[in-house]
Amino acid sequence: MTDCLFCKFVSGEIPVNPVYEDDSVLAFNDINPQAPVHFLVIPKIHFRNLTDAAESDPELVGSLLATGARIAKELGISDSGYRVVLNANEDAGQTVFHLHAHFLGKRKFLWPPG
Ligand code: 5GP
Ligand code: ZN
Repeated sequence: MTDCLFCKFVSGEIPVNPVYEDDSVLAFNDINPQAPVHFLVIPKIHFRNLTDAAESDPELVGSLLATGARIAKELGISDSGYRVVLNANEDAGQTVFHLHAHFLGKRKFLWPPG
């Protein structure tokens, strides 16, 4: 999508420092981290949110999460614990409308979330 920030990261139009990259997925640190570790995992193809991706390509959603879990392990937050957040649409606070999973770690998180 031409007017999508995360698509511009994927195409290289806007440079981003990848934490991980393969043919279908890109991961990079959040610009406004909410925890000592806070990275985003995105599919390289554009889906507006989880709802759209789950309808069109549920396997991609699975591989997005599995990739994030592997990165979390490599970054050493698996044993201590981490939180995965997927904001879908306005009530959840989604601000970038290209599917992304937040992975946050190295601090305690409240439950239920606010
Ligand atoms: P959302 O609120 O849509 O779930 O999350 C969007 C996330 O993208 C936010 O946590 C925000 O900090 C992050 N973000 C927005 N713009 C940029 C950017 O230019 N670079 C990076 N690395 N992260 C960004
Ligand atoms: Zn996009």
